[in-house]
Amino acid sequence: MFVSVAVPVPNLDLLTYAVADGVERPAIGARVLVPLGTRVVTGIVIDHVAEQGAARDVKFVQKVLDADAFVPAEVVGLARWTAEYYAAGVGDTIPALLPPMARGARVDAHKTQRIASITPAGLAALQSAGPKQREALELLAAAPDGIATAALAARGIAGSAISRLVKQGYLSVRTERLARDPFGVRPQAPAVPSDAENTGVRPLGGGAPTRTLTGEQQAAFDRLRALADARAFHVALLHGVTGSGKTELYLRLAVTTRDAGRCVLMLVPEIALTPAIAALFRDTFGDRVAIQHSGLSDGERHDQWHRIRRGDVDVVVGTRSAVFAPLEKLGLIVVDEEHDGSYKQEEIPRYNARDVAIVRAQRAQALIVLGSATPSIETYHHAMTGKYARVVLERRVLDRPLADVKIVDMREEYATEGPDVILSRPLRAALQDRLERREQSLVLLNRRGFATAVFCRQCAGTVDCPNCSVSLVVHGEGNARRARCHYCNYTARVPKTCPLCAGPYLDQQGIGTERVEAEVKALVPSARVARLDRDAIRRRGALASLLARFRAGEIDVLVGTQMIAKGHDFPQVTLVGVVSADVGLGLADFRSSERTFQLLTQVAGRAGRGDKPGEAIIQTLYPGHYSIQLACTQDYPTFYERELQFRRAMRYPPFVSLVNTVVRARAFSQAMDDAADLVQRVRDADVRGDFRVLGPAPPPLGKLRGEYRAQVLVKGTNRKRIRLALQAALAGRPDVQRRAVVDIDPLSVL
Ligand code: ADP
Ligand code: ZN
Repeated sequence: MFVSVAVPVPNLDLLTYAVADGVERPAIGARVLVPLGTRVVTGIVIDHVAEQGAARDVKFVQKVLDADAFVPAEVVGLARWTAEYYAAGVGDTIPALLPPMARGARVDAHKTQRIASITPAGLAALQSAGPKQREALELLAAAPDGIATAALAARGIAGSAISRLVKQGYLSVRTERLARDPFGVRPQAPAVPSDAENTGVRPLGGGAPTRTLTGEQQAAFDRLRALADARAFHVALLHGVTGSGKTELYLRLAVTTRDAGRCVLMLVPEIALTPAIAALFRDTFGDRVAIQHSGLSDGERHDQWHRIRRGDVDVVVGTRSAVFAPLEKLGLIVVDEEHDGSYKQEEIPRYNARDVAIVRAQRAQALIVLGSATPSIETYHHAMTGKYARVVLERRVLDRPLADVKIVDMREEYATEGPDVILSRPLRAALQDRLERREQSLVLLNRRGFATAVFCRQCAGTVDCPNCSVSLVVHGEGNARRARCHYCNYTARVPKTCPLCAGPYLDQQGIGTERVEAEVKALVPSARVARLDRDAIRRRGALASLLARFRAGEIDVLVGTQMIAKGHDFPQVTLVGVVSADVGLGLADFRSSERTFQLLTQVAGRAGRGDKPGEAIIQTLYPGHYSIQLACTQDYPTFYERELQFRRAMRYPPFVSLVNTVVRARAFSQAMDDAADLVQRVRDADVRGDFRVLGPAPPPLGKLRGEYRAQVLVKGTNRKRIRLALQAALAGRPDVQRRAVVDIDPLSVL
């Protein structure tokens, strides 16, 4: 009797182990301890096999850790598919499958708490009880899930009083494991209910939402609901402009799904979006919601994972890796902002959670809804060719107008205002105007730091990273000034003289969010200005508190990177300024137009979501570029047609499958030679002649973290054939394989 086991070791295929006679065969999804070389590691049983296959000297499973599947068999199958499709080892997916600390380490004993709840006898005794007892019974009568004894003690109801009530049969007390609460809003175990909760519009614990849908929402909901009721695999694109009320539809579909006895997986692109969405779902589903994302502590992740696994929740809200959540009986998956690049994992396994989610829905016979105001070209293409259902929301709820978008041609601005201008006259005026009217503004620049380069006026050189082929970015001002590499984090003092020619004339060039923040502060000194980018939120909890302060109106102007563009619903924002729309356009990447269009449309969509109309001001040096023009009119269909022409002419997805392979080496020549050998091997394997192999070529980031890189791009009509050819080519050169990364369906080829 044999089992195939995945072990958490990079690039390893499944390993075969024997199960000793007399030991029951472990279930698929169970954890086992297995010998590997000189070590013993924890693996997951992926399959049962009758024979030992080619492997000689098969070793024995040392210990079976779980009587049943630890990871649901369905998720094991999904991981297997993911590994194969993305050319990774099955073991590479294990970290995404398991809660932290489950890989053999001991899990700390849980804290417990005691929770009192009222009995029917207690309810009956309410009227006759004495004043002190009555106070306790009334509190508990209002809390159907009970109240923690600690919370009661805080209200002056002592343990002795509770014991007495228990003896009288009026209360029962249970002991619960104390789950750490990643929501950070309300303690997991019920505390004393607040008045706000008692009067909430949505009844707690499973009531249906009470808001009336708009006509358009209702029609969309009816179609999606019919697909959900079919209990069969369907993919639907929900193409709704920003502010059209997509979230409301997700929520209602979730209720329908739960009422039919099935579970819901809600994926969002950013950790920052989970608290708001999870809170919404909690209003409807009470405690039967879990969240999963990498921003939780190990303890929280552990708790959430086990709550899901035990079946304590109906809904999981999470980011990319939540696509592997241990849910069973899945009926609905929602991928919100499906076009978002954050769904792609840029390390092994390089999966796209949206695409894995589609496969998961297929295996579960579930409906999957892909929501976006700016769908990816691939998704829209599938919707237009009939592979996906297409459901459209063309208007904002309550017929709120879309933001009025203006383009500012920065060439004219430089001509009249000088070359150093950062905020154009229209943007300055609009910011001042909002401040006077006490309305909020967002200012976007998709580049971190203060200045993007240090430049020598004498030799024209820049101060570059010693490890990467990029220039260092200046962070901070005055004495706090540092030059930092955004790829490898190399940090140095900003030199006083040019490292190349020793000249003393160093200038800072290019601007980042820190500089914009300083400009806005200088322009409107009385404004409360804050910055939201990766640097500003390093401290745990900083992001949530920044968003909460902005939402509460404690910040007037929020400056930030694309993090401010995504999904947030801030009703008081009436102005969005884009300092430079051109940041992404210069990149030699086939998705640069698509990304620019999406970013501008999304960020403009943040304005005017409340009662007051919104305005967006976009600064650019290329006012005629189609992605900028069409973002202004928010004309997705025309953008799609333009972009599709380009993709067809250049043979890019969705017309071909794309696989990008990068070979790293200590020396540039070796990287190029190895990649050239790979090109030859792949060409030789192309018996049908339908591959187009490009390279070897140094990618724009030719050197990264001290290593040189060479790139091989393969286009073809059959993705699997490309993958197999590449895997065979690499198997023939194990030395190169160790230094090569294969990216299937890459989002970017930089
Ligand atoms: P989207 O996700 O499509 O950008 P949201 O779901 O965030 O849009 O909805 C935009 C705003 O409209 C939110 O504040 C939401 O609460 C509100 N909203 C949604 N549906 C309705 C409705 N039927 N009636 C009133 N307000 C609604
Ligand atoms: Zn670097």
